[in-house]
Amino acid sequence: AKTLGRNTLCFFDPAMQATVNANAALGADMRIALKEKQFVVYYQPQVDRQGVITGVEALVRWQHPQRGLITPIHFIPVAEDNGMILPLGQWVLETACEQLAAWADWPQTTNLSIAVNVSVHQFRHPDFVDMVMAAIGRTGIKPQRLKLELTESLLADRMEITIEKMGMLKDLGVTLSLDDFGVGYSSLSVLKRLPLDQLKIDKGFVADVLTDPNDAAISRAIITLAQSLSLQVVAEGVETHEQREFLAYQGCDQFQGHLFSPPLPIATLDAFLRNPSSG
Ligand code: C2E
Ligand code: CA
Ligand code: CA
Ligand code: CA
Repeated sequence: AKTLGRNTLCFFDPAMQATVNANAALGADMRIALKEKQFVVYYQPQVDRQGVITGVEALVRWQHPQRGLITPIHFIPVAEDNGMILPLGQWVLETACEQLAAWADWPQTTNLSIAVNVSVHQFRHPDFVDMVMAAIGRTGIKPQRLKLELTESLLADRMEITIEKMGMLKDLGVTLSLDDFGVGYSSLSVLKRLPLDQLKIDKGFVADVLTDPNDAAISRAIITLAQSLSLQVVAEGVETHEQREFLAYQGCDQFQGHLFSPPLPIATLDAFLRNPSSG
């Protein structure tokens, strides 16, 4: 009776019911949104130790006709629940490959990479490797310029299949990055077996790297670990010169964050890349 009471209470909690309704509405809108091209990819620059842009991360937004620009934290979890992450993720991947193809024509952008976030659902889909291969083939891009950002939650189970699939992606020539590193499950022994190119330090650690000795120690450990496994390491969420300096001193290879640039619409990014001094 107690359990039932709690469930009943939950069900009639007006705030929670409002969230459920809002998510259901967003979920229903999503199908239409994809068809009507309401999703937009923004691109956030990543820079090397010299401050040179080496690539960008593709970050999706939803230009909703009534609600305005919606950030992914509000709709990616909904899309993961209702399965829309598959067509949405596929669309982001295709868009990124088309952008890489467009950039191949300019000397300033021909070597830039684009990192695409891949949700666990997408990665687990039996056709995922084929879809990546098809996107590369259709656009004719150099596969190493496409970087797939995978998360540690992939490593929670079905490890053998995951490692095999990562190997197939590596065979296509794409670059593999482990996103939000440090927040999840990876152990040293697992990490050693993965065909990775890069680790990304989550912005949660970067935020307090100068004030929280634990976060400083974790960041240092991740960088040391990456170096010992010959992986590149990228810090996300870098907002201050002091954070950049600390991380660079520890040996971090690349940086991404508001210190350099927020995620930008493609027109703004293109204008900047063509004429950096104007930015
Ligand atoms: P993420 O992959 O960890 O991406 C980094 C997030 O940090 C982005 O949030 C970015 O805008 C934000 N960020 C970058 N620099 C700074 C900074 O200096 N300070 C702070 N406070 N934040 C910074 P965003 O764009 O809101 O994306 C949130 C999350 O949504 C992403 O986290 C990613 O997990 C997910 N996401 C975005 N696009 C996609 C997508 O196409 N597919 C999938 N599956 N997930 C996506
Ligand atoms: Ca990411
Ligand atoms: Ca993150
Ligand atoms: Ca902290």
